[in-house]
This record gives sequence, structure tokens and C-alpha cells, in this order.
Amino acid sequence: MPLKPLAEYELLAAQAHGHLCAGQILGLRMALHGMKLLGLDDPTGKDRKRLVSFVEIDRCLTDAIGVVTGCRLGKRALKFRDFGKTAATFCDLQQDRAVRIVARESAKESARTLHPEIADPNQQQMRAYREMADEELFETEWVKVTLAAQDLPGFKAPRVVCEQCGEGVSFRREVLREGRTLCRACAGERYYGPA
Ligand SMILES: [Zn+2]
Ligand SMILES: [Zn+2]
Repeated sequence: MPLKPLAEYELLAAQAHGHLCAGQILGLRMALHGMKLLGLDDPTGKDRKRLVSFVEIDRCLTDAIGVVTGCRLGKRALKFRDFGKTAATFCDLQQDRAVRIVARESAKESARTLHPEIADPNQQQMRAYREMADEELFETEWVKVTLAAQDLPGFKAPRVVCEQCGEGVSFRREVLREGRTLCRACAGERYYGPA
């Protein structure tokens, strides 16, 4: 489906995220700005196989970016880098180009200046983030993103079994340690311990 007006995305975002908030509006605007710069007008339709998005924070904004771009973790098209930044990078695989967009630190202050009559900061920012120009909201740079074959959405590889725990590992996420094929948990990246 071609890009929709912001108000329509707001409805979808509220559904997907559970509520509408300033972070959602900012995320929708950020993703729409990215699509415009890349010239992709149908990210969830005809352009869906050429788009990969990186998000740098695991907050409201991230869900909104998924709503516009259609990029999801379950399609390997959404990449999370936990930098704690209100930023995202949109990659067009077909044109081999990418744009990174960061929300300006001044955006909240601008919202206060624009709508001093609204006391609630979330309401104030929601209103302002709908109205402000892309250039006021965002800083933008063209960047180079190199994706390994296994990070591309369509990558496939034979499933192997970890020689230590016996669990199956897909898509070449296994590691070789002293001649043994191990899953990443058994290789030392385990995030859980015995209960
Ligand atoms: Zn939220
Ligand atoms: Zn294992």
C-alpha cells in the first residue's frame, strides 16, 4: 500500500503499540522522512523486499517505525542496536544506499516554545511533532551500511545441532570452538543461568 497520511498511521500505531504518544508520532514522522529521502512510496507493498531498518532504542518510537516501514524482527528486516538514541537508519538494498535520521535534541524545547498553552508535555509534544517541519525535527545523514549475507531478510542455511546442548541452530548462527560446533549460548553468550 502506498504511503498514507500521518493521521491514518496514527490509528495503526495506536493499535500496534497500545496507545498513542509523542514517541509514536516522532517515530512515524522519522520513518516517513526516511521513506521520502529513499524515494520508497510503498514500503509495505512493492518495495517491501528492498528495505531494512535499524533502530537504536527500544521504546515507543521503535514500534511506530515498524508501522510505516513494515520492517519486523520476524522478517529479519528490523535490526536493533541498543544505543539509547532516538535514531534509525533506513537501508534501500536495491539502490545500496542508506539514510540515518536522528531526532534533534532541540525537538522537546521547540515543542514547549510552539505550544506553551498545553501543560501536559506528552500532549504538547504530540501536537508539535505533527506540525514541525522534518528539518526542525531531524538531523539526517547519508551513510553506508554493509549487511552480511546472513543478515539479509531472505538468507537461508542448513540447520545444525549444537554439540554441547543438542539444540538446533538455524541460519548459520552457530560458532566453531576448538573444532566443535556450538550454539552461541554454549559458546559463552548465555543470557540466562540455572534457576
Ligand atoms: Zn508510547
Ligand atoms: Zn548449545
